[in-house]
Amino acid sequence: MPATGVSKVDRFSIPDASGHFGPYGGVFVPETLMAALDELERVYAAARTDPEFQAELRHHLAEFAGRPTPLYFAERLTHHCGGAKIYFKREDLLHTGAHKINNAIGQALLARRMGKKRVIAETGAGQHGVATASVCAKFGLECVVYMGAVDMERQALNVFRMRLMGAEVRSVEAGQRTLKEAINEAMRDWVTNVRSTHYILGTAYGARPYPEMVRDFHRVIGVEAREQILAREGRLPDELIACVGGGSNAIGLFFEFLEDPGVRMTGVEAGGRGIRTGEHAARFAGGRLGVLQGCKTFILQDPDGQIELTHSVSAGLDYPAVGPEHAFYRDTGRIDYAYATDDEVLDAFQLCSRMEGIIPALESTHAIVQGLKRAKALAKDKVLIVNLSGRGDKDVQEVARLMGKRL
Ligand SMILES: *Cc1c(COP(=O)(O)O)cnc(C)c1O
Repeated sequence: MPATGVSKVDRFSIPDASGHFGPYGGVFVPETLMAALDELERVYAAARTDPEFQAELRHHLAEFAGRPTPLYFAERLTHHCGGAKIYFKREDLLHTGAHKINNAIGQALLARRMGKKRVIAETGAGQHGVATASVCAKFGLECVVYMGAVDMERQALNVFRMRLMGAEVRSVEAGQRTLKEAINEAMRDWVTNVRSTHYILGTAYGARPYPEMVRDFHRVIGVEAREQILAREGRLPDELIACVGGGSNAIGLFFEFLEDPGVRMTGVEAGGRGIRTGEHAARFAGGRLGVLQGCKTFILQDPDGQIELTHSVSAGLDYPAVGPEHAFYRDTGRIDYAYATDDEVLDAFQLCSRMEGIIPALESTHAIVQGLKRAKALAKDKVLIVNLSGRGDKDVQEVARLMGKRL
């Protein structure tokens, strides 16, 4: 089925020169950060077309991160659903356990180019913090990671991994003590130390040039997937499915297919305990236009514009705003958005582990839930690619607790 509402998409025409994806995106930061953002934009624009930079990036992606990742046919899950073929793009096999390393390597190389020897980052589930700590160790950069106190408790293993690799992890005690507050603290640090410090933002979010730059560092996912599915099936897939926190793994997979109207795309948000309960992070199901942490986009907020509390079983999707490029493609109808609830995710987490021998990250499991639904609804000659953005090792303890098991 061709995607609906799609006229000709020129994926390179957005963002525009002011960093806008249609009405979304832009630059909403304190004056002190403008020079740093301009410098980053300049350095990135040069690196993007510099064959030496691109060769260096490819080298580290292959040797350090483990690219290319396989495209894996989930044979037993496919038979279980009885419909469309399900493929997994195996970003879970990358070094440090998730797609995050693609972007962390790219931005660490840019920090080096800018002569900045100190790196800061925020982290929710801890995956971006671990990826950043890892590249900072590798490139000899000082690393400070901000993490909400609640997330530090939920993801204690990742906190210890970061510290082992030499990063300083700073606990954030403000507000809901999760990702949003960690980003606030990181931005505060950046304002203070902007001359010496590069901020490695972990998703396709924030002020220009971050959404576009982070997207570009993840485009390799879709470039590989396209080549792999053509080699395997001799044609393009019918549908791509990926979970959406800020939206980096999803746009990384989707971007290469945006101009193929026969390829449907679905981003999956965190439905938490259900949209009606208000305990979720499905921005497109309950959000409105607003400004948060550098850009204009869909945000979960109350009628007074106060940011609402969010909930998800997966820390990596537990964020009240969504990347501006997703908001744009949702308006144009090019990308569809769905959500998966905590309960659906816990079921699919166990099903995938049992039937494929792959323990997926809880974030990625949101995409699997949607993949299973679509596979059941579509005929056997259809082909789906589900982005397995990360592995579930970090989540095993939390899932055991939710299942009422003691380890
Ligand atoms: C961080 C994370 C996500 C969510 O971030 P996006 O930028 O939306 O991709 C998804 N999956 C995993 C495994 C993560 O670590």
